[in-house]
Amino acid sequence: MTQEKKNIAIIGSGLVGSLLAIYLKRYGHQITVFDRRPDIRNIEFSGRSINLAMSNRGWNALRAVGIEDEIKEIAIPLDKRAMHVIGKEQYFQKYGKEGEAIWSISRGVLNKRMIDLAEQSGVEFRFEEKVWDIDLPGAKVFTGESEKGEWVEYPFDLVFGCDGAFSRVRHKMQRRSRFDYSQRFIDVGYKELTIPANADGSHKLDKNSFHIWPRGKFMFIAMPNLDGSFTCTLFMPFEGDVSFENIKTKKEAVHFFNTYFPNVMDDIENLTEDFFKNPTSAMVTMKCYPWTYWDKVALVGDSAHAVVPFYGQGMNAGFEDIFVLDEIIKEFGDDWERIFSTYQEKRKPNADAIAELSYRNFVEMSSKTADVNFLLQKKIEKHFSAKHPEKWIPAYSRVTFSNRPYAEALAEGDAQEEIMREVMKLPNIAAKWDSEEVEKLMLKLIG
Ligand SMILES: Cc1cc2nc3c(=O)[nH]c(=O)nc-3n(C[C@H](O)[C@H](O)[C@H](O)COP(=O)(O)OP(=O)(O)OC[C@H]3O[C@@H](n4cnc5c(N)ncnc54)[C@H](O)[C@@H]3O)c2cc1C
Repeated sequence: MTQEKKNIAIIGSGLVGSLLAIYLKRYGHQITVFDRRPDIRNIEFSGRSINLAMSNRGWNALRAVGIEDEIKEIAIPLDKRAMHVIGKEQYFQKYGKEGEAIWSISRGVLNKRMIDLAEQSGVEFRFEEKVWDIDLPGAKVFTGESEKGEWVEYPFDLVFGCDGAFSRVRHKMQRRSRFDYSQRFIDVGYKELTIPANADGSHKLDKNSFHIWPRGKFMFIAMPNLDGSFTCTLFMPFEGDVSFENIKTKKEAVHFFNTYFPNVMDDIENLTEDFFKNPTSAMVTMKCYPWTYWDKVALVGDSAHAVVPFYGQGMNAGFEDIFVLDEIIKEFGDDWERIFSTYQEKRKPNADAIAELSYRNFVEMSSKTADVNFLLQKKIEKHFSAKHPEKWIPAYSRVTFSNRPYAEALAEGDAQEEIMREVMKLPNIAAKWDSEEVEKLMLKLIG
């Protein structure tokens, strides 16, 4: 499908902005990407590598522009969780069927590679140029040194806001009548820490696992990097008994790691140093609507829908936005008004669904992992699913290993929850959780 050549601005050269640039350039448009940050390719990462998990939806979007294999070379497949539970030996939980995995990838390395690919295809990048304002009906972009200083005005045909959860483009749309907007921070923050490689460059923990140390209200996770290190994230309440607020000295941090994470003891020196060096960050769910303005401006990625990271889907969802947008472009050609309205109608329910699923996962992890009934329910589901894999696909698999809409995963998850409510009502369920009676009831309720 050819399109009439347009002059397009993309605000934000993050993961979503750079992939969108690659997609749109294929139609022959003139593409300029603005970012307030310096070119990430010129920044030394001072040994810190922040990684994320890429799953089916992300790969699907990369495959469509022929870069899946190239990016897989810089990613590590994780086919299981490694659980580190106090009082138990480390044990593993396979993610899904044979061959199913999520992939650990360095955010920085991925972003650099995508900017390179976009640039090679003819996209122009303007780094260290912050966008302060947008003229929505005129598709004009205003950049400058400061908000009060002098601005440069750039005229475009179309503007895409890929400028993240605190988007300036959205900010401008928010001032319009009937623009819905909400944001909700959770009371848990996170800090990134590192477990370095062994002296010979090998990994200290199993390399093909997503490591989790669940501790109820707080949790520690680790994902491998190609250089043998692990990027770890400590999720913990900002305030309260065990909280960021209550760990102020090195001694307190050492005590904290010793008490709750005994098997990372060798690395405590490093973890403690990181603990005080690295920032504590907040997490937010942000929703808004509409995502587009006429045939001029559209929000894509976190600027339209930021979610808490407990499903590992934020970037994946942003990449899927682009994939879906592209399908719609192929259908409607030059009718950008129709393209934009179809895009937001299709994507909004799915963005809301992954926001809800991500938030529920947070609640599950932080308040339900010690709940005996909840654990029993999960055990029954797992048992049933192993026996009837086609009849009971866990929500996690629907979200992570399929490309079916997120809204469908949420609806199916709710239906399963209804069934489990009935099952959990059975008298003496704890004793007969793996009985034929339970299995029959579940089959009957599934219908
Ligand atoms: C702790 C944590 C873990 C996560 N783990 C995962 C995971 O495992 N899997 C997953 O899929 N997702 C994960 N995510 C979510 C993922 O990081 C985001 O969804 C993704 O980075 C969004 O990309 P984006 O390009 O939309 O926005 P961003 O990455 O925020 O990029 C926005 C870009 O816009 C630029 N910008 C902003 N304002 C302006 C302006 N005014 N002018 C010019 N430029 C501007 C910024 O400099 C930046 O480069 C995680 C998030 C967090 C917080």
